[in-house]
Amino acid sequence: MLVLKGTTEIIENVKNGEIINKGCPECQQDLLLKQFRVWDTLFLIPIIPSRETRFVYECVRCYETFDPAYRNTFINRAKYLNATPQEVKDLTDAFSLTILSAILTCDDRSTENVVDILKNFARNCGIDLENHKEKVTTEFLSQEELSKTVLEWYDIFRDCFSEENRDKALHQTLEYCNIIDLTVKETKLLYIFSRHWGLTKVQFEELHKGKI
Ligand SMILES: [Zn+2]
Repeated sequence: MLVLKGTTEIIENVKNGEIINKGCPECQQDLLLKQFRVWDTLFLIPIIPSRETRFVYECVRCYETFDPAYRNTFINRAKYLNATPQEVKDLTDAFSLTILSAILTCDDRSTENVVDILKNFARNCGIDLENHKEKVTTEFLSQEELSKTVLEWYDIFRDCFSEENRDKALHQTLEYCNIIDLTVKETKLLYIFSRHWGLTKVQFEELHKGKI
């Protein structure tokens, strides 16, 4: 017997639906928020719409649809799509400075001492601090959420830049931390970041002299 009834999904516009400029991972065109609605069909013809909907982003050029769970990834990618090598280097340097700042400010070190270490670190790694002046200000260093910023930047790097740049940001910090004395608490934070990058405990101990 022929099945006369069924369901199908139809894509619909959303009122004031968000647009992510150049967000499509396939063709770099704009993504537009839309929704799929389930319709009951009769002889394959949609007859009755249901309330059941799910949001998607649809590309305005290639019509590919994407899960809104990756919204931040699409936004990040679009933002850094045309970054020049110099911009990528600046971002990597800024990321390294942020990692080190988060570590050095987690355990009551004096701001003068932190600034001194950051300046030496920059000299040591060929980072031009003129481009990153804000990173050695009290305002930046007194933020309570620096660790969170590091993890957010990790996501941005994962989405937008090569793994090499992400690793460079951590590795130059790890390497430099071998020539300064970190407290137990500071070492633990460095370890947490290293684990977040996917290093094992053994790999961490190979790269960093301080035992955890
Ligand atoms: Zn597309």
